[in-house]
Amino acid sequence: MNDGTERLERRVRRGLQALERRGLQRALRPPSGIDLCSNDYLGLSTHPLVAQRMIDAVRREGCGSTGSRLLRGERAAFDAVERRFAAWKGAARALYFSSGYLANLAVLTTFVEPGDLLYSDAANHASLIDGMRLSQARRVILPHRDVGALAQALEADAGPGQRFLVTESLFSMDGDHAPLRDYAAICRDRQVTLIVDEAHAVGLYGDRGSGLLEACGIDADAVLSINTAGKALGVAGAFVAGPAWAIEYLIQRARPFIFSTAAPPPVLAALDASLTVIETEPGLRERLHARARYLRARLAAEGLDVPADGSQIVPIVIGSNARAVAVADALQQQGFDVRAIRPPTVPEGTARLRIAVNTGLTEAILDRFAAALAAALRHVDTCCAASS
Ligand code: PMP
Repeated sequence: MNDGTERLERRVRRGLQALERRGLQRALRPPSGIDLCSNDYLGLSTHPLVAQRMIDAVRREGCGSTGSRLLRGERAAFDAVERRFAAWKGAARALYFSSGYLANLAVLTTFVEPGDLLYSDAANHASLIDGMRLSQARRVILPHRDVGALAQALEADAGPGQRFLVTESLFSMDGDHAPLRDYAAICRDRQVTLIVDEAHAVGLYGDRGSGLLEACGIDADAVLSINTAGKALGVAGAFVAGPAWAIEYLIQRARPFIFSTAAPPPVLAALDASLTVIETEPGLRERLHARARYLRARLAAEGLDVPADGSQIVPIVIGSNARAVAVADALQQQGFDVRAIRPPTVPEGTARLRIAVNTGLTEAILDRFAAALAAALRHVDTCCAASS
């Protein structure tokens, strides 16, 4: 090995040791036990229609797309699914990206220029943060869901650049909703462009199920939305939806779109089926919300602090990294697949379990889980008290 690489190895080893010391070392662990942590909220990743459409498409079209969409990777079926998605979302057009992460990078680096101003919720997802960093525009971090702080910040700086408000609609690690109606009104009055990441809401909210923009009655063409397809839609990727001029510009300018091989055609075939299931089986999302309400009520009955008006994402904030891992381990040993979420995914000192409800969980399972969680928390509390 050359000297440079040896020096790198020492630096990397120091980094790994630092992570271990701080209780931040992660391990890759395949699913095992009852799913209480995936984003497969409606169970569509294994829905028979979705699976069958993917299999049929593999036989018909092969596995890979063989090129970027601007070259030989394009397929008529991509455009068809994008049109269908846009109509469902209530937007003029949509464009598919092979991951939500890339879609967020694309939106934030294509529309935002260095002299612009970004207003960003403090709890925004890493992919939004990375996109904002790459844009090189100045960023104002707003306290979580704080409409007053946004209004004040907008008052303070009315420079010549374009201004953007960037938020998730349903926050991935807190399970709470952004005040979208207020945001939309402020953005309209102050000529601010609203960018909404609907990752954890698309497929689940609104009469059609197209997301919280729909549920809040916000015109999908007045905003740019990013809608991941690997969570409630059960497959992979993300649709950016918005006005036609915006989507056209993404096709022309978005580097994650232009310089990347198009998704495998069977993925889009499966997504078409996901949209069919969401349209024809509204009972699935009703069941999800009912089960989430049930779990929150059961946890509250166990004395845990959970918001009654929350969502399918139920955070149990524990605090220290080591305690969060200990509680998750105890639950995993009892067959519940729950993972500890630690910094930098969540702020320092707020390590937590992120319970994600899905339609496969029965009330009986949720009863057992609520009791096991409360017992594990009590047990860890007692151990910590004894050892301090
Ligand atoms: N936005 C949010 C809010 C997310 O939670 C995630 C994934 N965890 C993404 C974007 C990225 O989506 P993907 O996993 O498709 O890259």
